[in-house]
Formats: sequence, C-alpha cells, structure tokens
Amino acid sequence: MGTISSGQSPAEILSDLGIREPKDLDVQAIAMHCGALIQYKPLSGCEARIMGLEDSAIITIDVNSSPERKRFSGGHELGHWMRDRGSATFQCNEQMFVREWSEDNPEKRANRFAADLLLPAKMFRPLSKDLPITFATVEKLATIFTMSISATAIRLVEYGSYPAMLICNSAAGREWYVASSTVNGKLWPVDRPGRSTQADALLQGHGPGLGSQDRRADQWIKNFRADQYWVKEDSRLWTNQSVLSLIWWEDESQLIDQENFEEESGSWRSDRRRNWD
Ligand SMILES: [Zn+2]
Repeated sequence: MGTISSGQSPAEILSDLGIREPKDLDVQAIAMHCGALIQYKPLSGCEARIMGLEDSAIITIDVNSSPERKRFSGGHELGHWMRDRGSATFQCNEQMFVREWSEDNPEKRANRFAADLLLPAKMFRPLSKDLPITFATVEKLATIFTMSISATAIRLVEYGSYPAMLICNSAAGREWYVASSTVNGKLWPVDRPGRSTQADALLQGHGPGLGSQDRRADQWIKNFRADQYWVKEDSRLWTNQSVLSLIWWEDESQLIDQENFEEESGSWRSDRRRNWD
C-alpha cells in the first residue's frame, strides 16, 4: 500500500500506474496505490466519507449509490486525502459535488481531483474532438468513463472542441455555470433563461427537451450584441427541479467580432494615450 505521497497530481498518479485507457481507471486500485482503502457500506446523511490516519485512510462510500456516483465519490474522497490530508475527516454529500465547483475550498479541490483522475484531459480530449456539445455526446462519453451526466458535461464544456457553457437553472434563476476557457470572462449568461428557451419550458413543467436547437444568443447571453447572434441549446431536467443546459457556439462569429471590437477599441485608447504623452 501507499507508494505515492500527498500532493501528487492525478496525471502523475495515472502515469505512475501506466493507465492510458478509460477502462483501466479502476478507482479502487488507484486509491490502494495512494494508501487509501475504499469500502462500500450503507451510509445515511452523506454519500461518502474519509477517515485518515498518518499515512493511510479508509474511504467509505454509500453502497446504495449508482455506479457513477460511487466512482466520483471515490475520486472525490481520494482528492481530500491527496490534497487536504491534514484536515481530519470529511463527510460529503451530493450537493457538494456539483455546487462547489466555483469556489476554492477543500470540496472544490476534491471535485477537481476526481474529475482530473476519472475524466483525464489526455483521454477526454481526443474522444470528444469535434463532437457537438450536446447531451447525446455527454451520454456517449459518460458511458465510456462510467461517470455521471453532470461531471461529464462539465468536462465536455472544458475540453470539447467548441466554445460552450453548462448552466444550471432552477425556478429561482441561475444556480451555477461552467464556461470553456474560450468564453469564460468574455461572455456572460443571463440570470434566468429567456422565454423561448427549452430550459424555460422545462422549468414551467413542459417537456421533454428536444435535443440541440438554435436560439438567439440573447436568450442565454447578456453581453456583446447578443440579439445579433445565435447559439445552440440542449436542455434537460436534472435533480431537485433544476435544469441543465448546454449552450455552445458552432458559429464563432460572436466571439471573433467581440475580440476584434476589443482590439480596435483597445488600440484606439492606446493611440489616444500616445497622443497625450
Ligand atoms: Zn468532500
């Protein structure tokens, strides 16, 4: 047990173990290699927990969870072990697994670790190359990696071939979102989906979703002449009466125009500054 020290990255662990294919991502064997034993028992009040000692840990996962949830829980608890070993014990529930994606804390670090370990970029990128950013694609990839729809959808937004966002809405409006590096900090999602979106229909109790469809960008995006461009939307009901929406740009002209616009206005500003110097 335990030849790997705390602080090693998921990529380093996979490389040490010679794991190159999704089918070899055996979370129990990987945990064992990191000095952690995974056991499955009925749990109430949490999905998974970890108890760590000096150099070994016991991870307990709810035996009644789905296979996908069990895998992610295993990766998540292993993340606590490898990232936050000093902090005694963790008890984790499903809410933490998705909501904690945006803030930097031990739960986010553990989620990141799980995603990097079980949906590694090296394997995910080539498999998702040029595929549309839809739930059909997510399902295909989720099956290959035995991972949940939500974790796989986040990954597809991060590592897919197109600019994209995954946005979660409830009746109260936007709960959280994840954006690809190509749109993050450039385009912003609206606080609640527009009236002609599938997400709105699903939140009103109409459905099911219809697969990927064109929408005027202002139904989803707040800024940069959104009424003049189009995005694609694929929405579906998720847990707790919330709706997950994949928004993506097959035609990148909104992004390109925005970049050009910023370059032009930026150079205009620096020209002016130069004149003043
Ligand atoms: Zn946790």
